Amino acid sequence: MTENPLLEVENLEKHYPITEGLLRRQVGTVRAVDGVTFEVRPGEAFGLVGESGCGKSTTAHSLLRLEEPTGGDVLFDGEDVLACDTDELRRFRRRAQLVLQDPNSAFNPRQTVGDAVAEPLRVHGLDDAETRRRVVDDALERVGLDGADADSYPHEFSGGEKQRISIARALVLNPDLIVADEPVSALDGRTKADVLDLLDDLQDEFGLSVLLISHDIDMVRRFCDRIGVMYLGQIVEQGPTADVIENPLHPYTQMLISSVPSLDPHASSAVVETPSDELPDASDVPSGCRFHPRCPAIIPPADVTLSREQWLDVVSLRFYLEDDWADARSARQSLPVTPTNGDSPTNSAAEIRAAFDLPATLPDEGVEDAVTGAIDALETDDLEAARQRLAEAITSVCERESPELTDEHASRPVACHRYDPDKPGDRETGIEHSIGGD
Ligand code: ADP
Ligand code: MG
Repeated sequence: MTENPLLEVENLEKHYPITEGLLRRQVGTVRAVDGVTFEVRPGEAFGLVGESGCGKSTTAHSLLRLEEPTGGDVLFDGEDVLACDTDELRRFRRRAQLVLQDPNSAFNPRQTVGDAVAEPLRVHGLDDAETRRRVVDDALERVGLDGADADSYPHEFSGGEKQRISIARALVLNPDLIVADEPVSALDGRTKADVLDLLDDLQDEFGLSVLLISHDIDMVRRFCDRIGVMYLGQIVEQGPTADVIENPLHPYTQMLISSVPSLDPHASSAVVETPSDELPDASDVPSGCRFHPRCPAIIPPADVTLSREQWLDVVSLRFYLEDDWADARSARQSLPVTPTNGDSPTNSAAEIRAAFDLPATLPDEGVEDAVTGAIDALETDDLEAARQRLAEAITSVCERESPELTDEHASRPVACHRYDPDKPGDRETGIEHSIGGD
């Protein structure tokens, strides 16, 4: 495609300081958006997808300058949005409109629907009431409502209708881009599909570009031409929708897809083993690849010879010990231990191993030594030593180094060490890295 992109977002960053005390001393940083790059082309629907809290809304607000980004660049039709003065910003805001998730909070209950839809026109200086009324009627009809609805009040409409009214309000200024942040999440099944179909029709009819934001990969799949998958403030993979859905490269994308049974051809093999289920916080992002603590494909050091299950069990033990335990005793006592003999758990080495599905002896001598050493240290209440024993033996490249978004796959940039040609040692370990299959 040679056409210039309508919207270019480059390395966008929005960090929030965490402050404490009267002097508001900064004690930390929330990396809500941490280097996000993508573009939306004219007439295209681009989807940003990822779990709640990964920074989708902050990305939308920052690129529209509803909040000031702390870094990066945003170009709209070639113009530098972050350098806009007030007038330029006003023009930009006419052309790029935001539609929000919750249609109920989007309206003033005492304002008629017509006045609500006309508001952007007034704000942008269209003073003639008759013309406004014509534009409003037209917008209401475009979204499947009636011009006469302009005289009613928001409470007289269903959730789906209210979302149509929101869309009408976004359309009155003839925008080029609609940023729709979870536009149908508050709606039920049938209405959801109707509102999406409406957006789809409008997009075709008026050549609109849409940036669709959703936690629901199936919805993004149905609506978008291309997808960017976000995890903890970063895009980990992007590409044409069909490619990403049919051949997801990043383990996180694979995890999102396998959570939707209708999308995953291997749905029967469902539950994917992961080292940890917890979604980390944007104020405390993991080192290296941010996904590594949850990644079923986390790469072992080159000299480790274990099956993938064994490797993941060892990694689970390691990450379990890395949690915020007060001491070794509380770490041990929180284990789901089944007594191996007698009636009550004794937290013996055998019981600790069993809690992590570890066999009596692991086939890899180095790892086995480290695991034995760690469990011994745990039993003698030396948590730090236990952690160290495991860290020395099995720290993964995924923990040490942050993967760059490669473009080895031309249209499919992906940020995962498994696709990094410079890490052959770690890659060719004979461990089956792919998940969801085999
Ligand atoms: P999403 O839309 O993907 O659910 P958000 O963009 O709303 O995610 O939030 C991303 C992260 O930034 C979350 O961890 C959230 O708690 C944090 N965050 C959002 N807004 C603020 C704020 N004003 N101050 C501090 N942290 C924030
Ligand atoms: Mg959000």
